[in-house]
Amino acid sequence: MYKYYDNRTCKLVIKYVQRNGRTERFIVMEIIKMLKNNTISDEQLKILIENGETEDELFKEADMIRRKNYGTSVYIRGLIEFTNYCKNDCYYCGIRCSSKNTERYRLTPEEILKCCDEGYALGFRTFVLQGGEDLFFTDKLICNIVSKIKSKYNDCAVTLSIGEKSYESYKSYFDAGADRYLLRHETADTLHYGKLHPNKMSVENRKKCLKNLKEIGYQVGSGFMVGSPFQTTKNIISDLRFLQELKPDMIGIGPFIAHKKTPFAEYKNGDLHICLRLIAILRLLFPFALIPATTALGTLNQLGRELGLKAGANVVMPNLSPVNVRKLYQLYDNKICTGDESAQCRKCLEMRVKATGYKIVTDRGDVKRNI
Ligand code: SAH
Repeated sequence: MYKYYDNRTCKLVIKYVQRNGRTERFIVMEIIKMLKNNTISDEQLKILIENGETEDELFKEADMIRRKNYGTSVYIRGLIEFTNYCKNDCYYCGIRCSSKNTERYRLTPEEILKCCDEGYALGFRTFVLQGGEDLFFTDKLICNIVSKIKSKYNDCAVTLSIGEKSYESYKSYFDAGADRYLLRHETADTLHYGKLHPNKMSVENRKKCLKNLKEIGYQVGSGFMVGSPFQTTKNIISDLRFLQELKPDMIGIGPFIAHKKTPFAEYKNGDLHICLRLIAILRLLFPFALIPATTALGTLNQLGRELGLKAGANVVMPNLSPVNVRKLYQLYDNKICTGDESAQCRKCLEMRVKATGYKIVTDRGDVKRNI
């Protein structure tokens, strides 16, 4: 049975036991049930987030729901990191504009297309174009790249992850054929947001962008870093509540990992187990969401992505960027897979996913709606 620490949240669990005269295991399951019914309170969420004793049950339940809705399928997204120029200065990010010694690069539209060619041959049916907020890539140029990819590979989805833009810009990419957009909200709390970003940026604008993306008709992904500096459990609960309001199709979370050339160089990395528990919580709160086992998770721990899959994740995003630029897209230190060819990455992940009991599928992997 479970052991509980003598702290406030755990007393809550024990009190619950006494009130109902039920076993401890049953109480944990009760909380998980509330998670699934969407009736969970903030205090109960806190218990699940902070207490490792409950995590085996949590992972088991999350895996069950994931298998019910998506079987053992793991969707692959080919990530093309096409520019590391960025006008923003997020304190946690290795490619922030103040990082003066960072060698910068941009891929040409032809190079991006070549990554897609290679990816298509390897079975990818989703291409994710991610980059810093690089003004060199005008709306026209982005639209051009998107429509070129879509006309060559009309059975593929194109996902953009290029930050905060106007409604009109988002609309033009969508009209050019972009299907999905990833924009993590990073943290839903205004004060916390202010500690991670310069004054120029605001959580209000981030949230407005997400609202616009939904309105336009994108499949939208959001998410946050786990263990970012100054983050509290209360902040994480606000993140979950914000996601419940937003109802995204994709939710990406990963541990914060310090980058040595940022103001957060000395802060400690996010916690693997909290991250895994949050993946499971997300799976139970959003039974149909597409949830990646992120590269950051794989960087924090050698088996991080495998553990993420077991906790309810159903997406992996191997790198399709040309090997010569991979080391330059360094959002955090020691990022994995920066030396491998795309085909190697694909093969390695295939094996890892299989060894974990799941199966990579060649499919666009659109979200299944909760109807
Ligand atoms: N410019 C795009 C893409 C950002 S990079 C945008 O604004 O959306 C993708 C994600 O990497 C970010 O949203 C952030 O959550 C994550 N990231 C950045 N720095 C990180 C770090 N040091 N540790 C972990 N994740 C980080």
